[in-house]
Amino acid sequence: AHLDRIGEVDGAVHAFLHVDAEGALAAAKKVDDDVAAGVEVGPLAGVPLALKDVFATEGVPTTCGSKILEGWRPPYDATVTRRLKEAGIVILGKTNMDEFAMGSSTENSAYGPTRNPWDTDRVPGGSGGGSSASLAAFEAPLAIGTDTGGSIRQPGSVTGTVGVKPTYGGVSRYGLVAFSSSLDQAGPCARTVLDAALLHEVIAGHDPLDSTSVDAPVPPVVAAAREGANGDLSGVRVGVVTQFSGEGYQPGVLRSFEAAVAQLKQLGAEVVEVSCPSFDYALPAYYLIAPSEASSNLARFDAMRYGLRVGDDGTRSAEEVMSLTREAGFGPEVKRRIMIGTYALSSGYYDAYYGSAQKVRTLISREFDQAFATVDVLVSPTTPTTAFRIGERTGDPMAMYKADLCTIPANLAGNAAMSVPSGLSDEDGLPVGLQIMAPALQDHRMYRVAAAYE
Ligand code: GLN
Repeated sequence: AHLDRIGEVDGAVHAFLHVDAEGALAAAKKVDDDVAAGVEVGPLAGVPLALKDVFATEGVPTTCGSKILEGWRPPYDATVTRRLKEAGIVILGKTNMDEFAMGSSTENSAYGPTRNPWDTDRVPGGSGGGSSASLAAFEAPLAIGTDTGGSIRQPGSVTGTVGVKPTYGGVSRYGLVAFSSSLDQAGPCARTVLDAALLHEVIAGHDPLDSTSVDAPVPPVVAAAREGANGDLSGVRVGVVTQFSGEGYQPGVLRSFEAAVAQLKQLGAEVVEVSCPSFDYALPAYYLIAPSEASSNLARFDAMRYGLRVGDDGTRSAEEVMSLTREAGFGPEVKRRIMIGTYALSSGYYDAYYGSAQKVRTLISREFDQAFATVDVLVSPTTPTTAFRIGERTGDPMAMYKADLCTIPANLAGNAAMSVPSGLSDEDGLPVGLQIMAPALQDHRMYRVAAAYE
């Protein structure tokens, strides 16, 4: 049924870069066979899922939305891919994304944009716009994204779906094509909080193949989502971050946020205001740290190892071939990031740029710690605005970057954060998201609040 639905609507939405009908039907049949044979299967066995095209899938094209990886079929599965398969989850295909996860609208994909199912003239957010749009268009009930600065939560917010960035290290990065290794985190996307929790527990957990994977028990997020569903938040302390409002925020988004806070109070939560002054510097710090790491990570696309190779006609040096391939294979935003990152890391500038950004990062972590000493979770709008129009911000990188104003601090500090649908804006009738943030490894706290609020 989901493959049929994809056939009906994906021409208009373009959530998928590759649909693996054959693989999906074979995986579904295996679950049927297991059930018929009396083999015990997990709670999500047989449930279809859309996988962001940044995860290695054995034998199935993996492009990261880039021309430089066109035609690459990985020889192995990412740990996330493997865990999905082991759980009997049916992978429908690979979803569209901003090239190498750099963007907030999915317009940086080399394969054309994804459209927001709520209004196909608008973006579905990014970089994981394909994953979130596939949920909103009912092409898949579950999806997987990655969140380096907001790429799960922001698309979730603008498509009216749930998006979770687990604690950094909570889900393995093995086989996840690296953008900014100290920030990248894979997580679940779904239409309900409980669905996200069930998927979270499938993909999370320690992985010896990822040196930054946390060797600790998976936070009990399913139990927390079930507990929250009773709608009682008495005893829960919620902090409203004062820095997430004011200039650049749509009035409709702020009104929706106020209503959400009022509802949390009604459910029994105690709400206090919390000030985190360094959060004002999160965006500039991120746009030094993320491109710096990206400039290093993307050095591996050297025309020798993967996908595209341009100009290799026997007359050119390896260096020339590398240069021609990277010129042709990377899009403008990726080149911009490589240039910014290379500059920020170069000798003479390192301390002023990268070094300062790392100090800001430390301050942000400390302010989170201070806040979480007095509250259980922090809340904010997920994004300052609802879905913008396709093309509206493509000529203005700063406007595009501001889509992640509220989401970036949690990436810099490494704690858990999620977006849960918060109704429609009274300004334009488009979905708004409520962001809930929790301390590292306390992911269950935000699930409880989200399930109560939902
Ligand atoms: N929009 C942010 C960026 O362009 C975040 C992307 C992400 O989380 N992958 O870097």
